[in-house]
Amino acid sequence: MMRVPFLDLAAGYQALQPELEHALLQAARSGHYIGGEALHAFEQAFAAYSGSRYCVGTGNGLDALRLALLALEIGPGDEVIVPSNTFIATWLAVSQCGATLVPVEPDPDSHLITADGIAAAITPRTRLILPVHLYGQPVDIAAISALACRHGIRVVADAAQAHGARYDGQPVGGAFDLCTWSFYPSKNLGALGDGGAVTTNDPDLAERVRMLGNYGSREKYRFERPGINSRLDPLQAAVLSVKLPRLDAWNARRQAIAHRYCTALAGSDWTLPAVSPRTSPVWHLFVVRHPRRDLVQQQLRALGVDTLIHYPIPPHRQQAYQRQWPADAFPVASALADEILSLPMGPQLSDEQVTYVIDCLLGC
Ligand SMILES: *Cc1c(COP(=O)(O)O)cnc(C)c1O
Repeated sequence: MMRVPFLDLAAGYQALQPELEHALLQAARSGHYIGGEALHAFEQAFAAYSGSRYCVGTGNGLDALRLALLALEIGPGDEVIVPSNTFIATWLAVSQCGATLVPVEPDPDSHLITADGIAAAITPRTRLILPVHLYGQPVDIAAISALACRHGIRVVADAAQAHGARYDGQPVGGAFDLCTWSFYPSKNLGALGDGGAVTTNDPDLAERVRMLGNYGSREKYRFERPGINSRLDPLQAAVLSVKLPRLDAWNARRQAIAHRYCTALAGSDWTLPAVSPRTSPVWHLFVVRHPRRDLVQQQLRALGVDTLIHYPIPPHRQQAYQRQWPADAFPVASALADEILSLPMGPQLSDEQVTYVIDCLLGC
């Protein structure tokens, strides 16, 4: 029997250990522990990499979302359209600025919200569309942009799972008004702790995000807005600068593994994610569906193959939100949550491990 962990972060560290430790020591000795050159260098590199003009580092991905919404002055009385199936942070950012969540069901084949689904949820109060490039698959940027433009509504994309993903050949970070990122350790580009960023092509919005994440201050001891303190740690920026040049190769490895899963599982009991030909997903997670998910997950575990569920309970059924919606309010999100399974995925996975996982999946 082979052991296949879901993800091996320690192996990822060891593969780059000398360079990471050199960068960390340099940052530690620099005397600049907030802001400074290491942070600036990473922000510039990540803006370029993600196809945008500006990048502002934040403390984490949730704060990146909160700052994006604050910068657009989203607040009480405003409706924000979100997917009914996402990591809860997408919803929390909306709740925390006092706006009203308007969840939209995903297309069950791609797991993504669509322009048609969003269009049906637009009201005169809609101020923002907040799509998620879930699992590393870009949403239909052209259709959502056209819809938002027609209605004069802003769009912020949650790209916490989509570093390096492309749509029509372009990186997703410059699409829409603002794009938010997380560098949580397990993400495709992960720090050694928390981190996040906002990217945009709009210089005023970039300035506002930076000001709001710095206590609402552009100029020392002058506070123009009641902001928060959420900045990217320069030690984490130094780590991320070591990793960024490797990201395309890591994503290519994820794509090769996804290709093997798709080829091997076609025509089986496993339902594969539908992919739009306009997109190049980066498979932060490779999520398949099976009608007897709980049983097959147990069988796989007994065979040494670790899988996870992203996410087992949709946001509207969480205790945090259950007073606002009945359990059956979003049947597509609920049905997906009952059938989805995230397969082992990551640049550290060997060909032999992938072969073993596929054999186990086909034996279930
Ligand atoms: C990880 C994640 C976040 C939150 O990022 P943190 O850095 O953990 O705060 C937000 N949205 C999605 C879709 C995520 O996957």
